[in-house]
Amino acid sequence: MADYTDLNGAEQSFGDNAAQREVRENDRNYVFHSWSAQGKIDPLPIAKGEGVRFWDYDGNEYLDFSSQLVNLNIGHGHPKMIKAIQDQAARLATIQPAFANDVRGELAKKIVEKSFDGARSVFFTNGGAEAIEYAVRLARHHTGRQKVMTRYRSYHGSTGTAIMMTGEPRRWANGIIDGSVVHFFGPYAYRSAFFAETPEQESERALAHLEQQIEVEGPGTIAAIVLETVTGTNGVFVPPPGYLEGVRALCDKYGIMMICDEVMVGFGRTGEWFAYQGFDVKPDLVTFAKGVNSGYVPLGGVVISEAVHNSFVDRPFPGGLTYSGHPLACAAGLATFDIFEDERIIERTRDLGERVVAPRLAEMLEKHPSVGEVRGKGLFWAIELVKNKETREALVPFNAAGDDAAPFNAVVAACKKAGLWPFAAGNRLQVAPPLIISEEDLVKGLDIIDEALTVADGYTV
Ligand code: PLP
Repeated sequence: MADYTDLNGAEQSFGDNAAQREVRENDRNYVFHSWSAQGKIDPLPIAKGEGVRFWDYDGNEYLDFSSQLVNLNIGHGHPKMIKAIQDQAARLATIQPAFANDVRGELAKKIVEKSFDGARSVFFTNGGAEAIEYAVRLARHHTGRQKVMTRYRSYHGSTGTAIMMTGEPRRWANGIIDGSVVHFFGPYAYRSAFFAETPEQESERALAHLEQQIEVEGPGTIAAIVLETVTGTNGVFVPPPGYLEGVRALCDKYGIMMICDEVMVGFGRTGEWFAYQGFDVKPDLVTFAKGVNSGYVPLGGVVISEAVHNSFVDRPFPGGLTYSGHPLACAAGLATFDIFEDERIIERTRDLGERVVAPRLAEMLEKHPSVGEVRGKGLFWAIELVKNKETREALVPFNAAGDDAAPFNAVVAACKKAGLWPFAAGNRLQVAPPLIISEEDLVKGLDIIDEALTVADGYTV
């Protein structure tokens, strides 16, 4: 049996160095990569993906605990997804956005039905950053205000306003191209900016800080507060009790739009269709992307409340995209709903999180001197690594590079050597496997992490 199929459809075997060399050469000669010094990278050529695994050309197998970039919720090669895309490609691959289209309308309807009470419509984009751009644009036109408040330790995408909204180092080198963004600190009880000793205190003090900042910025100038409902790449921060509800109350008090960025956590990641549904809040706008069709075809969008929608009933919304509501992407989105329902993805994500991941990570916290905190929900967790549990000094400094990052890189390398592709960020191993993962594979991956943590233990003091 062939190991993989090449780009001409021919069956091939692993270990074919000529094929691998060609992929690598084309990549190095012609592809310009994100976030990288082009001369210092050597991207691993991938031959195939199947379910929760992928393989390089040498036949090394990786269990994907990162769901690629936390998008591949249904895993590679899902037959229902493939069929939906093939069927739609044959029916009508593309139609411009000014027309009404069956799959686009059906998907918007399904998303609105799964959304908050008072959700009214969906604007489709090609991905997450665009969804953020459009959510902010909708909020600005709706309120007539310009400023946007976002948290430190957040990622909202890499385009114009989205990168300015991002509250971490990826923003730094991008200059200031949008001065209307204001950052604030959110809850992070383990490293509290508010000297809080309990999650409740953290919540209360973070809200008091936010309200002060709103007051001095000028409430009448603020269009929106944008939050990742559960922060993703920057640390899997599940909001402490009352925090999101408190932000909602501040938004109501000052006429500010509450935008939940669900690009990473929407569509099941935390064991809810949308992560905000685990709390007692109704946002005004919700961004989504990745999980909507697991990235089989690029798609994102904004769920829009009745009030915001109604702002544009008599006046035109000044914005659009050639591929807004692309039929191929929307057909893949519709398949997501079928797959989630058939395979009870939401229920199993919640169950695996509570029954398998939470207790196992709690055990690792007890066992390893290098594990400072574990936190998360559903199939979305962070293992925060420290040099010293007492002082909470991080295993590597914030934004570490080069030799400074060596201890963390050694842990990541141990995972990869054992066949696990981890989601590694800062001083954290994050657990984010495809939501279709079997219990057996989940345990297998957690075993590998458990073992790799002994490498981190070696750096503790
Ligand atoms: N918002 C969040 C929370 C994200 O995690 C990401 C991507 O990781 C984005 C926005 C940007 O999405 P995209 O890369 O599709 O533009």
